[in-house]
Parts: sequence; C-alpha cells; structure tokens
Amino acid sequence: MAAWFDTEEMLIGGQWVRAAETLVLENPSTGQPIGAIPRGQSREIDAAVAAASEARRGPWGRMTALERGRLLTEMGRLVLARVEDLARLEATDVGKPLTQARADAVALARYLEFYGGAADKVHGETIPYLDGYTVYTLRQPHGVTGHIVPWNYPMQIIGRSVGAALAMGNACVLKPAEEACLTALAFARIAVEAGLPDGALNVVPGLGQEAGAALAGHPGVHHVSFTGSVATGVKVQQAAGANVVPVTLELGGKSPQLVFEDADLDAALPFLVNAGIQNAGQTCSAASRILVHRALHDEVVERMAERYRALRVGPALDDLEVGPLISARQKEIVEGFLAQAGDLTVAAQGRIVAEGGHYVAPTLLTGVTPDHRLAQAEIFGPVQVVIPFASEEEAVAIANGTDYGLVAGVWTRDGGRQMRLARDLHAGQVFVNNYGAGGGVELPFGGVGKSGHGREKGFEALYGFSQLKTVAARHG
Ligand code: NAD
Repeated sequence: MAAWFDTEEMLIGGQWVRAAETLVLENPSTGQPIGAIPRGQSREIDAAVAAASEARRGPWGRMTALERGRLLTEMGRLVLARVEDLARLEATDVGKPLTQARADAVALARYLEFYGGAADKVHGETIPYLDGYTVYTLRQPHGVTGHIVPWNYPMQIIGRSVGAALAMGNACVLKPAEEACLTALAFARIAVEAGLPDGALNVVPGLGQEAGAALAGHPGVHHVSFTGSVATGVKVQQAAGANVVPVTLELGGKSPQLVFEDADLDAALPFLVNAGIQNAGQTCSAASRILVHRALHDEVVERMAERYRALRVGPALDDLEVGPLISARQKEIVEGFLAQAGDLTVAAQGRIVAEGGHYVAPTLLTGVTPDHRLAQAEIFGPVQVVIPFASEEEAVAIANGTDYGLVAGVWTRDGGRQMRLARDLHAGQVFVNNYGAGGGVELPFGGVGKSGHGREKGFEALYGFSQLKTVAARHG
C-alpha cells in the first residue's frame, strides 16, 4: 500500500465516496500495481459540480478573502508538515526521483502560501468618468472551476491552478490523471483537515474520455483549466466552448536554450542538461532543443556528453539522476521517436541501472537540422537535440521555428542581445543566463502558439481565475 489513506475514496461535497468501478495504479519504477483509485464517471462529475455550486451559495461563498487566505495558508502548513510522505507518494506514483518529488511537495506548499497571502490583495479600481458618476470595478470569482491535471507534475499543477482558484473564491472540481493521482487524493485529505468548507474542493479521479470529458463540457462549470497534450487541449476547448466559458490551456512545448559565443559555459552547462532530463524529460518546459553558436558547438556537445555519460537511470526511490517514464505507452512513444533518429549522431547516452520499470536511456543527439521531426515534435522523454547556428538572426529564426512557444533560455553576456532576444523570442517566459528560475511560483507562466493560452502562477493567475465587473453609479 503506497498511501496512508484509502485511495479508493474520492471527495465530493465533503464526503468520501467510492465509485462503482476502480482503476489500477502502477508503479512506473517496477511496472507493478500499487493500488486502486475510483473510476469517476459523468455521474460523479455531476455530483461534484452540484456540490461546488452549493458551496458557492453556502459558507464558502460568504467567506471573506482574508478567511480564504488563512485556510490556504493552513493547507500550506499541513503540506509542509507532510513533505516527506507526499514526496514518497509522488515518487512511487509518477516515478520521479525522490529529490525532485520533494521539491514538488515544497512547491505545492509554496503555492498555497503565496495564494493564501495574495487572496485579500486583489483589488478593483475606480475609473474617472463623467461628472456625476462614480465608476469602479469588482473582481469576482467565476463560480465553479474545473481543473484537468496531467500525470507529470500533479502537486505543482494542483498548487498553481487550484490554489489560485480557491484564493479568488471559486469552488473547484479537480480531475487528476488516471496514471498518477495519489497526491491529488492526499491534497483532498489535507484540504479537509485544514477545514476547507464542504464542496469548495471536489476531487474526482477517472479516465480522460469519461470524467475528464464530462467535466470539460459540463454546463455547470464556469472556467476550465487544462494542462496536457495539444490534442486533448483542443477537445477540452471545444467542449467548454459549447458552454461559452473561458479556458486556460497549458500544452507543453519544444523549448530552446540559446548558447551564444560569449556565454559563460561553466554557468550554463548544468542548466542545459538538467532542463532536458528533469522528470525524465516529461516536463512541459523541458529544454529539449539546445541551439549553439558554431564557434562553441563542439565544446558544448563534448561537455554535455560528459554529463550524459554520468547519468544513471533507475527506481524513483533510489533517487538517481533519472527515473522511469510514466508508462509502457509513454516509453513506446519515446522509443518511436528515437527510431526516427535515422542518420543523426548519438553524442552520448546515460546508463539504465535497473530492470522492470519503464526506463529509457537519456540520449543527446547532434547533426540535427531545425526542421527534423525530432527538432519539431514534443518527445516528452529524456532526449535533447543540439542545433548549430551562425548568427543571432538565425538563432532567433530557429528558436521561433516550431508550433510551440512556452519557455526560452538565452546564454550571453551581451546586454543588448539579452534585451533583443527577450523581446523577439516566441515564448511565455524568457530566462536570461538561467533556466527555470528555480521554479518561480511567483512568475506568470503560460504559452503562445500551440503551447496554449492564459497565464497561471504568480499574481496574474488571480486575474485569470476571476472576472471583472464594472459598476457605474450616476448620482449627480
Ligand atoms: P492528455 O492530454 O491526454 O491527458 C492530460 C489530462 O487530460 C489527464 O487528466 C487526462 O485524463 C485528461 N483527458 C484526456 N482526454 C480527455 C478528454 N477527452 N477530455 C477531458 N480530459 C481529458 O495527455 P496524455 O495522454 O497523458 O499524454 C500524451 C502526451 O501529452 C504526452 O506524450 C506529452 O507529449 C503530452 N503531455 C503534456 C503535458 C504538459 O505538461 N504539457 C502533460 C502530460 C502530457
């Protein structure tokens, strides 16, 4: 048993309920079952949406922003007290090395602290208008918000989307991924323990095409936040569109790090490799393309290759550099991409030191042209491609030459170039002489192009999870 609670129970309207059927969860490090979760269906989604609606009309809907903030802060405290338990749960369920899972648990607490502190700091404005009028704006919750979360970073994504939605007074229905949802269920336990009113948070695990589709298209849902693949994001947007409700889509990417001839390579190298292999490359903001000025190309490849050769791949609880992929299917997808490498050069690979799990050796590829399939598609595995460039103009053209635009990193000491690239790169976040900024709970995040739209994280998310009302009073 991986969890300290009954994993077959889901939270609907403050009650722990079971579904008619269950789904088996697997440990990606061994390929063996670790327990069962409820297979929520449209009936359970209906009940959860009704409970959320009821919560909006009840004590949760009447709570002040300060009180909501205190509750979120208390949830953050409880998460911090259980970091180790949550980290082991996530490591076992997702397959991510323990150190990375621990960082995710701390990030979940940090989101709850951040949004707890921010809840009572979102103001409307007064607007100067005609003589005899007072005009002001109110920031109000959407009502019921739906949250469809993937398997790669359950705790972080729950923190950033549910945390912000609750801070603004929405009542949430969370549908975690069928491949990994133990920490979502643990989060539900923590919310109840903190005293969150019934129905303010409902957690319904289930299959995407069942519970997920039912939530995305539910007429009682007023905003949908989705993180996952482009194909599913399109379906979610279409389903929500039928109800004319706003959608936030975070759909991954093919993010580049650009290394110029004047880069501080010693500083850049750990970021170049780590941002590709973190969570075995199953990261929406993974730096899967390394663009390098020709003058440094061979040196960068050799120094990255050296690091790759030292990477060990094994069980999450052994806490090596790289863990397994989430599932046999994901492994098949990644191996399918590698089979298309054709005449690309494998500069280096990491070493698999275990058996039985869904392991893939981290692979560094060179000789890649910008239009190659492996330089265009989101592989979602520990694979990085190195692409040379000859000028700043060419670097920008290659960086912007995919359908995606989530994150970009720029390594250069030239201040003017830093500013030009920050302006010209197609991405929701640009990092200068770093990558990822250590997580950045406070930093708005989201994509352009097929990476999606809308912003989560930071203060900006609070605007996304609320709607603006203008009040114009004529008083003479
Ligand atoms: P997915 O997009 O299908 O699943 C993400 C979430 O959406 C899960 O909770 C799933 O149950 C739900 N879902 C699935 N079908 C749905 C539907 N019709 N309506 C509503 N919800 C639905 O992703 P996946 O199949 O788990 O992975 C496939 C690929 O997606 C990966 O190889 C990777 O490229 C990409 N991916 C990206 C991210 C990211 O963070 N951007 C996360 C996971 C997967």
